[in-house]
Amino acid sequence: MTHPPPLPTFWELLAPADWTAIDFISDLHLADETPRTFEAWAAYMRDTPASAVIILGDLFEVWIGDDARHAGFEARCAEVLAEAASRRSVAFMCGNRDFLVGAETLRDCGVLALPDPTVLVAFGERLMLVHGDALCLDDHEYQRFRAQVRSSAWQREFLARPLAERAQIARAMRAQSEQRKRGMAPADWVDIDKATAVRWMHEAGTPTLVHGHTHRPAREDLAPGFVREVLSDWDCDTPGTPRAEVLRLKRGGLSRIPLAR
Ligand code: MN
Repeated sequence: MTHPPPLPTFWELLAPADWTAIDFISDLHLADETPRTFEAWAAYMRDTPASAVIILGDLFEVWIGDDARHAGFEARCAEVLAEAASRRSVAFMCGNRDFLVGAETLRDCGVLALPDPTVLVAFGERLMLVHGDALCLDDHEYQRFRAQVRSSAWQREFLARPLAERAQIARAMRAQSEQRKRGMAPADWVDIDKATAVRWMHEAGTPTLVHGHTHRPAREDLAPGFVREVLSDWDCDTPGTPRAEVLRLKRGGLSRIPLAR
């Protein structure tokens, strides 16, 4: 028996009355090596009719510190974020790949930082928003790793290293995680702990959970009166069917908007 983790703080984001549509995206894993996914995202950020775009983590495949935002691929991404945020609200929650996106980048880009979890209050509804990794409790090895890299001591020590060294460490960490995943079929990848999710939802008064991380987009009943909407990952570079989808909340409810042609 593992003990359930203590309940988190349920920080609330109140949607302003003039918002008409709110988009959720996650798990784009943007990288210089996947230019089509980047282009699809940049076009989406420019053209979406939504009043707000809420990014629920893993926008970037890797982020090694805010001081990397001034050049190259990171600078182009920051430009897209800033341009979009000048015309609509943009909010960002960290994922397990981009947990080092910090206050400096978000402030520069005019993007609101969201804690994980956040309760969104919009159109008379309450939704719980998380990336998803913190609820994957069965993956003990990952939860130990997460506790380490989310500690301020680890982050201070890591961010004090030169950029090139950080890039090298990040590559090694990615290779290790890819190797772990290769040993498993996608169906065996860890899912969120549903009992804990329902406990959080019950406690926060949120009948709907929106999360990413698992790359298995679906709507699923977790318990009577509690439903989850899992966001799609994006991949427009791997040959085959491109994946790019937005979950959109309006007064009438949630809908999935496929973007890939
Ligand atoms: Mn993730």
